[in-house]
Amino acid sequence: MTSGLVDRFGRVHRDLRISLTDRCSLRCTYCMPADGVPWLASSTLLSTEELVRLARVAVSLGVREIRLTGGEPLLRPDVVDVVRALAGLRGPDGPLDLSLTTNALRLPALAAPLRDAGLARVNISLDTLRADRFLELTRRDRLADTLAGIDAARAVGFSPVKLNALVMRGVNDDEIGDLVAFAVARGLEMRFIEHMPLDAGHTWRRDEMVTGEEILEAVSARYELEELGRDGSAPASLFRIVGTPATVGVIASVTGAFCDRCDRVRLTADGQFRNCLFAHEESDLRSLLRDGADDARLAEAMQACVSLKKPGHGIDDPSFVQPSRPMSAIGG
Ligand code: SAM
Ligand code: SF4
Repeated sequence: MTSGLVDRFGRVHRDLRISLTDRCSLRCTYCMPADGVPWLASSTLLSTEELVRLARVAVSLGVREIRLTGGEPLLRPDVVDVVRALAGLRGPDGPLDLSLTTNALRLPALAAPLRDAGLARVNISLDTLRADRFLELTRRDRLADTLAGIDAARAVGFSPVKLNALVMRGVNDDEIGDLVAFAVARGLEMRFIEHMPLDAGHTWRRDEMVTGEEILEAVSARYELEELGRDGSAPASLFRIVGTPATVGVIASVTGAFCDRCDRVRLTADGQFRNCLFAHEESDLRSLLRDGADDARLAEAMQACVSLKKPGHGIDDPSFVQPSRPMSAIGG
Protein backbone atom coordinates (compact mmCIF):
# COMPACT_ATOMS: atom_id res chain seq x y z
CA MET A 1 0.00 0.00 0.00
CA THR A 2 1.25 3.56 -0.75
CA SER A 3 2.03 5.98 2.03
CA GLY A 4 -0.65 8.54 1.11
CA LEU A 5 -4.31 8.78 0.18
CA VAL A 6 -4.03 7.86 -3.51
CA ASP A 7 -6.83 6.27 -5.51
CA ARG A 8 -6.86 3.94 -8.56
CA PHE A 9 -6.81 6.94 -10.89
CA GLY A 10 -3.75 8.50 -9.29
CA ARG A 11 -5.65 11.27 -7.54
CA VAL A 12 -3.81 12.33 -4.38
CA HIS A 13 -6.12 13.43 -1.56
CA ARG A 14 -4.96 16.40 0.48
CA ASP A 15 -8.20 18.10 1.49
CA LEU A 16 -10.29 16.77 4.39
CA ARG A 17 -13.79 18.11 5.09
CA ILE A 18 -14.93 17.44 8.62
CA SER A 19 -18.59 17.76 9.59
CA LEU A 20 -18.77 18.97 13.19
CA THR A 21 -22.50 18.39 13.60
CA ASP A 22 -25.51 17.48 11.47
CA ARG A 23 -27.71 20.03 13.24
CA CYS A 24 -28.50 23.45 11.89
CA SER A 25 -30.04 26.77 12.89
CA LEU A 26 -31.55 27.22 9.39
CA ARG A 27 -33.68 24.95 7.23
CA CYS A 28 -32.57 25.86 3.69
CA THR A 29 -35.10 24.33 1.32
CA TYR A 30 -32.38 22.82 -0.91
CA CYS A 31 -30.72 21.17 2.07
CA MET A 32 -33.19 20.21 4.81
CA PRO A 33 -36.92 19.57 5.18
CA ALA A 34 -38.87 22.02 7.37
CA ASP A 35 -38.84 19.65 10.33
CA GLY A 36 -35.15 18.89 9.98
CA VAL A 37 -33.93 15.32 9.59
CA PRO A 38 -33.59 12.62 12.25
CA TRP A 39 -30.50 13.86 14.11
CA LEU A 40 -27.53 11.63 14.78
CA ALA A 41 -27.62 10.08 18.26
CA SER A 42 -25.22 11.97 20.55
CA SER A 43 -23.48 8.73 21.56
CA THR A 44 -22.39 8.32 17.92
CA LEU A 45 -20.83 11.79 17.62
CA LEU A 46 -17.07 11.92 17.72
CA SER A 47 -15.59 13.63 20.77
CA THR A 48 -13.08 16.40 20.11
CA GLU A 49 -10.29 14.02 21.07
CA GLU A 50 -11.50 11.33 18.65
CA LEU A 51 -11.98 13.83 15.86
CA VAL A 52 -8.52 15.34 16.31
CA ARG A 53 -6.94 11.89 16.41
CA LEU A 54 -8.55 10.97 13.07
CA ALA A 55 -7.47 14.32 11.62
CA ARG A 56 -3.91 13.67 12.79
CA VAL A 57 -3.90 10.28 11.07
CA ALA A 58 -5.21 11.89 7.87
CA VAL A 59 -2.49 14.53 8.09
CA SER A 60 0.12 11.77 8.43
CA LEU A 61 -1.26 10.49 5.10
CA GLY A 62 -0.69 13.83 3.36
CA VAL A 63 -3.77 15.91 4.16
CA ARG A 64 -2.80 19.60 4.16
CA GLU A 65 -6.13 21.33 4.17
CA ILE A 66 -9.01 20.89 6.60
CA ARG A 67 -12.39 22.53 6.18
CA LEU A 68 -14.90 22.41 9.03
CA THR A 69 -18.52 22.20 8.00
CA GLY A 70 -21.84 20.59 8.86
CA GLY A 71 -24.82 21.07 9.42
CA GLU A 72 -23.89 24.34 11.03
CA PRO A 73 -20.40 23.89 12.51
CA LEU A 74 -20.76 26.83 14.89
CA LEU A 75 -23.54 24.97 16.72
CA ARG A 76 -20.98 22.54 18.09
CA PRO A 77 -20.43 23.74 21.66
CA ASP A 78 -16.68 23.08 21.61
CA VAL A 79 -16.00 24.42 18.10
CA VAL A 80 -13.30 26.80 19.40
CA ASP A 81 -11.48 23.91 21.12
CA VAL A 82 -11.69 21.85 17.92
CA VAL A 83 -10.18 24.73 15.92
CA ARG A 84 -7.41 25.24 18.47
CA ALA A 85 -6.47 21.56 18.40
CA LEU A 86 -6.52 21.33 14.60
CA ALA A 87 -4.56 24.58 14.25
CA GLY A 88 -1.83 22.89 16.31
CA LEU A 89 -1.40 20.04 13.81
CA ARG A 90 1.54 20.16 11.40
CA GLY A 91 1.52 18.70 7.89
CA PRO A 92 4.47 18.17 5.56
CA ASP A 93 4.39 21.90 4.71
CA GLY A 94 3.88 23.12 8.27
CA PRO A 95 0.55 24.37 9.68
CA LEU A 96 -2.58 23.19 7.90
CA ASP A 97 -4.77 25.38 5.75
CA LEU A 98 -7.73 25.47 8.13
CA SER A 99 -11.08 26.97 7.16
CA LEU A 100 -14.75 26.84 8.05
CA THR A 101 -18.01 27.04 6.11
CA THR A 102 -20.87 28.64 8.03
CA ASN A 103 -24.22 30.36 7.81
CA ALA A 104 -22.58 33.06 9.99
CA LEU A 105 -25.41 33.32 12.53
CA ARG A 106 -23.07 32.74 15.47
CA LEU A 107 -20.09 34.64 14.07
CA PRO A 108 -20.79 37.87 15.98
CA ALA A 109 -20.08 35.91 19.18
CA LEU A 110 -17.47 33.48 17.86
CA ALA A 111 -15.39 35.26 15.20
CA ALA A 112 -12.81 36.65 17.63
CA PRO A 113 -12.36 33.45 19.71
CA LEU A 114 -12.10 31.41 16.49
CA ARG A 115 -9.46 33.74 15.06
CA ASP A 116 -7.54 33.60 18.35
CA ALA A 117 -7.74 29.80 18.25
CA GLY A 118 -6.02 29.80 14.85
CA LEU A 119 -8.75 29.98 12.21
CA ALA A 120 -7.57 32.11 9.28
CA ARG A 121 -10.44 32.14 6.81
CA VAL A 122 -14.15 31.49 6.44
CA ASN A 123 -16.70 30.78 3.72
CA ILE A 124 -20.14 32.20 4.44
CA SER A 125 -23.33 31.11 2.74
CA LEU A 126 -25.50 33.98 1.53
CA ASP A 127 -28.11 33.19 -1.13
CA THR A 128 -30.12 36.41 -1.04
CA LEU A 129 -29.98 40.00 0.19
CA ARG A 130 -33.75 40.26 0.62
CA ALA A 131 -35.22 39.53 4.03
CA ASP A 132 -38.48 38.06 2.70
CA ARG A 133 -36.60 35.70 0.41
CA PHE A 134 -34.18 34.73 3.14
CA LEU A 135 -37.17 33.71 5.24
CA GLU A 136 -38.66 31.72 2.39
CA LEU A 137 -35.36 30.05 1.50
CA THR A 138 -34.11 29.22 4.98
CA ARG A 139 -37.49 29.11 6.78
CA ARG A 140 -35.99 31.46 9.39
CA ASP A 141 -36.21 35.26 9.56
CA ARG A 142 -32.49 35.82 10.14
CA LEU A 143 -30.95 37.76 7.25
CA ALA A 144 -29.88 40.51 9.66
CA ASP A 145 -27.97 37.97 11.76
CA THR A 146 -26.16 36.58 8.71
CA LEU A 147 -25.20 40.10 7.65
CA ALA A 148 -23.97 40.84 11.18
CA GLY A 149 -21.93 37.64 10.97
CA ILE A 150 -20.35 38.79 7.71
CA ASP A 151 -19.44 42.11 9.35
CA ALA A 152 -17.93 40.25 12.31
CA ALA A 153 -15.83 38.08 9.99
CA ARG A 154 -14.45 41.17 8.27
CA ALA A 155 -13.90 43.02 11.54
CA VAL A 156 -11.68 40.31 13.06
CA GLY A 157 -9.63 40.10 9.87
CA PHE A 158 -10.43 36.67 8.45
CA SER A 159 -8.83 36.59 5.03
CA PRO A 160 -10.17 35.76 2.62
CA VAL A 161 -13.87 35.87 3.46
CA LYS A 162 -15.71 34.15 0.62
CA LEU A 163 -19.48 34.36 0.15
CA ASN A 164 -21.22 31.34 -1.38
CA ALA A 165 -24.61 31.52 -3.06
CA LEU A 166 -26.52 28.57 -4.40
CA VAL A 167 -28.44 29.79 -7.44
CA MET A 168 -31.98 28.56 -8.07
CA ARG A 169 -34.23 29.37 -10.98
CA GLY A 170 -37.10 31.67 -10.13
CA VAL A 171 -35.84 31.90 -6.55
CA ASN A 172 -32.70 34.04 -6.46
CA ASP A 173 -31.30 34.00 -10.01
CA ASP A 174 -32.32 37.66 -10.42
CA GLU A 175 -29.95 38.63 -7.58
CA ILE A 176 -26.68 37.42 -9.10
CA GLY A 177 -25.49 40.93 -10.00
CA ASP A 178 -26.61 42.39 -6.65
CA LEU A 179 -24.75 39.70 -4.71
CA VAL A 180 -21.56 40.46 -6.66
CA ALA A 181 -21.99 44.18 -5.95
CA PHE A 182 -22.51 43.45 -2.24
CA ALA A 183 -19.31 41.37 -2.09
CA VAL A 184 -17.18 43.75 -4.16
CA ALA A 185 -18.18 46.73 -2.00
CA ARG A 186 -16.84 44.85 1.04
CA GLY A 187 -13.69 43.39 -0.53
CA LEU A 188 -15.09 39.82 -0.41
CA GLU A 189 -15.05 37.11 -3.06
CA MET A 190 -18.49 36.10 -4.34
CA ARG A 191 -18.86 32.50 -5.48
CA PHE A 192 -21.89 30.92 -7.09
CA ILE A 193 -22.68 27.22 -6.80
CA GLU A 194 -24.77 24.99 -9.03
CA HIS A 195 -27.55 23.17 -7.23
CA MET A 196 -26.69 19.51 -6.65
CA PRO A 197 -29.02 16.57 -5.95
CA LEU A 198 -28.28 16.31 -2.24
CA ASP A 199 -31.38 17.69 -0.57
CA ALA A 200 -33.23 15.55 1.92
CA GLY A 201 -36.51 16.31 0.11
CA HIS A 202 -35.18 15.01 -3.25
CA THR A 203 -36.48 18.10 -5.07
CA TRP A 204 -33.56 18.57 -7.50
CA ARG A 205 -34.36 18.56 -11.23
CA ARG A 206 -31.57 18.66 -13.82
CA ASP A 207 -33.60 20.73 -16.28
CA GLU A 208 -34.48 23.34 -13.65
CA MET A 209 -30.94 23.86 -12.46
CA VAL A 210 -29.26 27.20 -13.21
CA THR A 211 -26.01 26.29 -14.97
CA GLY A 212 -22.61 27.83 -14.39
CA GLU A 213 -22.79 29.24 -17.90
CA GLU A 214 -26.04 31.04 -17.13
CA ILE A 215 -24.58 32.38 -13.89
CA LEU A 216 -21.60 33.73 -15.79
CA GLU A 217 -23.86 35.40 -18.32
CA ALA A 218 -25.74 37.12 -15.53
CA VAL A 219 -22.52 38.41 -13.93
CA SER A 220 -21.22 39.52 -17.34
CA ALA A 221 -24.39 41.53 -17.92
CA ARG A 222 -23.24 43.85 -15.12
CA TYR A 223 -19.44 43.46 -15.05
CA GLU A 224 -16.67 42.99 -17.59
CA LEU A 225 -14.88 39.77 -16.65
CA GLU A 226 -11.43 38.37 -17.34
CA GLU A 227 -11.04 34.61 -16.94
CA LEU A 228 -8.38 33.54 -14.46
CA GLY A 229 -8.97 29.79 -14.79
CA ARG A 230 -8.87 27.33 -11.95
CA ASP A 231 -6.39 27.04 -9.16
CA GLY A 232 -5.15 23.42 -9.02
CA SER A 233 -7.83 21.17 -7.57
CA ALA A 234 -9.99 24.11 -6.38
CA PRO A 235 -13.57 23.68 -7.62
CA ALA A 236 -14.23 27.33 -8.53
CA SER A 237 -13.50 28.80 -11.96
CA LEU A 238 -12.29 32.29 -11.18
CA PHE A 239 -12.91 35.56 -12.99
CA ARG A 240 -11.54 39.02 -12.28
CA ILE A 241 -13.75 42.04 -12.63
CA VAL A 242 -11.74 44.09 -15.11
CA GLY A 243 -10.13 47.15 -13.59
CA THR A 244 -10.55 45.93 -9.99
CA PRO A 245 -8.85 43.39 -7.72
CA ALA A 246 -12.25 41.71 -7.16
CA THR A 247 -12.77 38.10 -8.23
CA VAL A 248 -15.93 36.07 -8.75
CA GLY A 249 -16.02 32.27 -8.63
CA VAL A 250 -18.37 29.83 -10.33
CA ILE A 251 -18.57 26.29 -8.96
CA ALA A 252 -20.15 24.22 -11.71
CA SER A 253 -20.23 20.94 -9.80
CA VAL A 254 -22.82 19.45 -12.16
CA THR A 255 -22.17 20.83 -15.65
CA GLY A 256 -18.41 21.28 -15.26
CA ALA A 257 -17.62 18.42 -12.93
CA PHE A 258 -14.07 18.57 -11.58
CA CYS A 259 -14.03 14.96 -10.35
CA ASP A 260 -10.90 14.18 -12.38
CA ARG A 261 -8.96 16.60 -10.17
CA CYS A 262 -10.80 15.95 -6.92
CA ASP A 263 -8.53 15.78 -3.86
CA ARG A 264 -11.26 15.70 -1.20
CA VAL A 265 -12.20 13.17 1.44
CA ARG A 266 -14.78 13.60 4.18
CA LEU A 267 -15.35 12.69 7.78
CA THR A 268 -18.92 12.87 9.11
CA ALA A 269 -19.76 14.00 12.64
CA ASP A 270 -20.42 10.35 13.56
CA GLY A 271 -17.02 9.21 12.38
CA GLN A 272 -17.76 7.80 8.93
CA PHE A 273 -15.08 8.36 6.32
CA ARG A 274 -16.30 9.06 2.76
CA ASN A 275 -14.39 9.28 -0.50
CA CYS A 276 -17.05 11.45 -2.23
CA LEU A 277 -20.07 13.63 -1.41
CA PHE A 278 -22.08 11.24 -3.58
CA ALA A 279 -20.59 7.97 -2.30
CA HIS A 280 -22.97 5.22 -1.17
CA GLU A 281 -20.40 3.50 1.04
CA GLU A 282 -18.69 4.83 4.14
CA SER A 283 -15.85 3.49 6.22
CA ASP A 284 -16.80 3.24 9.89
CA LEU A 285 -13.77 4.79 11.59
CA ARG A 286 -15.73 5.46 14.79
CA SER A 287 -16.24 1.75 15.49
CA LEU A 288 -12.62 0.97 14.66
CA LEU A 289 -11.42 3.73 16.94
CA ARG A 290 -13.72 2.76 19.81
CA ASP A 291 -12.69 -0.89 19.40
CA GLY A 292 -9.11 0.14 20.12
CA ALA A 293 -7.57 0.32 16.63
CA ASP A 294 -4.10 1.87 16.53
CA ASP A 295 -3.20 4.72 14.15
CA ALA A 296 -1.78 2.35 11.55
CA ARG A 297 -5.10 0.48 11.37
CA LEU A 298 -7.04 3.74 11.06
CA ALA A 299 -4.69 4.89 8.29
CA GLU A 300 -5.19 1.60 6.49
CA ALA A 301 -8.99 2.01 6.65
CA MET A 302 -8.73 5.54 5.21
CA GLN A 303 -6.52 4.30 2.38
CA ALA A 304 -8.84 1.39 1.63
CA CYS A 305 -11.80 3.79 1.42
CA VAL A 306 -9.93 6.12 -0.95
CA SER A 307 -8.85 3.21 -3.13
CA LEU A 308 -12.54 2.49 -3.85
CA LYS A 309 -13.30 6.03 -5.05
CA LYS A 310 -15.23 6.17 -8.32
CA PRO A 311 -13.96 8.26 -11.25
CA GLY A 312 -16.84 10.74 -10.94
CA HIS A 313 -20.13 11.56 -9.25
CA GLY A 314 -22.21 10.45 -12.27
CA ILE A 315 -25.02 12.99 -11.72
CA ASP A 316 -25.63 13.12 -15.46
CA ASP A 317 -25.75 9.34 -15.73
CA PRO A 318 -29.34 7.99 -16.02
CA SER A 319 -28.48 5.39 -13.38
CA PHE A 320 -27.48 8.09 -10.83
CA VAL A 321 -28.89 7.49 -7.36
CA GLN A 322 -28.70 10.23 -4.73
CA PRO A 323 -26.85 9.19 -1.54
CA SER A 324 -29.13 8.31 1.35
CA ARG A 325 -27.56 10.86 3.69
CA PRO A 326 -28.48 14.50 2.97
CA MET A 327 -25.81 17.20 2.51
CA SER A 328 -26.31 18.44 6.08
CA ALA A 329 -25.34 15.04 7.49
CA ILE A 330 -22.44 14.41 5.11
CA GLY A 331 -20.90 17.85 5.48
CA GLY A 332 -21.09 20.25 2.54
N1 SAM B 1 -24.30 25.40 7.39
C1 SAM B 1 -23.13 25.81 6.72
C2 SAM B 1 -23.45 26.69 5.53
O1 SAM B 1 -24.61 26.73 5.12
O2 SAM B 1 -22.51 27.32 5.04
C3 SAM B 1 -22.22 24.68 6.30
C4 SAM B 1 -22.88 23.45 5.73
S1 SAM B 1 -23.73 23.69 4.18
C5 SAM B 1 -24.30 22.05 3.86
C6 SAM B 1 -22.35 23.96 3.10
C7 SAM B 1 -22.67 24.49 1.75
O3 SAM B 1 -23.39 23.50 1.05
C8 SAM B 1 -23.52 25.75 1.71
O4 SAM B 1 -22.83 26.76 1.00
C9 SAM B 1 -24.77 25.34 0.98
O5 SAM B 1 -25.26 26.35 0.15
C10 SAM B 1 -24.28 24.16 0.18
N2 SAM B 1 -25.36 23.26 -0.19
C11 SAM B 1 -26.33 22.71 0.58
N3 SAM B 1 -27.17 21.94 -0.15
C12 SAM B 1 -26.70 21.98 -1.42
C13 SAM B 1 -27.13 21.41 -2.66
N4 SAM B 1 -28.20 20.62 -2.73
N5 SAM B 1 -26.42 21.70 -3.77
C14 SAM B 1 -25.32 22.50 -3.72
N6 SAM B 1 -24.86 23.06 -2.59
C15 SAM B 1 -25.55 22.82 -1.46
FE1 SF4 C 1 -28.06 24.63 7.44
FE2 SF4 C 1 -26.07 25.11 5.73
FE3 SF4 C 1 -27.98 23.25 5.18
FE4 SF4 C 1 -28.65 25.82 5.18
S1 SF4 C 1 -27.15 24.83 3.81
S2 SF4 C 1 -29.79 24.16 6.20
S3 SF4 C 1 -27.36 26.67 6.75
S4 SF4 C 1 -26.50 23.15 6.79
